Amino acid sequence: MSNVYLLLGSNEGNRLNWMQQAIGQLGIKSGNILRRSAVYQTAAWGLSDQPDFLNMVVLLETGLQPLALLKNIQEIEQLAGRQREIKWGQRTLDIDILLYEDEIINLPELTIPHGFMQERRFTLAPLAELAPDLIHPTLKKSIKTLLLECPDQLEVHTYEQQ
Ligand code: ATP
Ligand code: CA
Ligand code: CA
Repeated sequence: MSNVYLLLGSNEGNRLNWMQQAIGQLGIKSGNILRRSAVYQTAAWGLSDQPDFLNMVVLLETGLQPLALLKNIQEIEQLAGRQREIKWGQRTLDIDILLYEDEIINLPELTIPHGFMQERRFTLAPLAELAPDLIHPTLKKSIKTLLLECPDQLEVHTYEQQ
C-alpha cells in the first residue's frame, strides 16, 4: 500500500458537496482515506475572474499504481460532471495528485510531485496541516518551509462550514 496526498478543489455548484462525494468515491474506488485537512477558501489562482475555490487535502492509502490512480480520479471528476473547457477555468471538482510516497514521476500525462504545489498557498496550507515535516522529494525542503517561502499573495482562510 502507498500513501498519497491528494488536493481536492471545487468552485462551481455545491462545492462542499462535490468534495464530500469525491471522498466517498475515493473510499469506494481507490483505497482508504486516512486523514483529511480542514476546508480552505481561496480566490481563484491563475485565472481570477471566477468564483472562489474551496480546497482540502486528503491522505489516501492505496494499492493502485500512480497511472491507475490518475485514471481513477479522472473518473471521479467525470462523475461530478466536470467539463474540461478552459485551462484553469471554473470546475465542479478537481483532484490533483500532490505526492505519491516519495516517488518522482515525469510522464506527459503525470507529474509527481505536482509541478505547481510550491507556488500555491491554497495547496501548501492544507498540506502543511496534515504533513508539515514531510520532505518534498525533489525540492528537499519540508512542506512547512515551502509554505513559509511561498510567494503566492492570494489569501487562504479556513472555511466556516454552515
Ligand atoms: P493544474 O495541474 O495546474 O492544477 P488543472 O488541475 O486545472 O491544472 P486539469 O485540467 O485538471 O489541470 O488536468 C490536466 C492534466 O494534468 C490531466 O489530464 C493529467 O493528465 C495531468 N496531470 C499531470 N500531473 C498530474 C497530477 N500530479 N495530478 C493530476 N493530474 C495531473
Ligand atoms: Ca489542479
Ligand atoms: Ca487537475
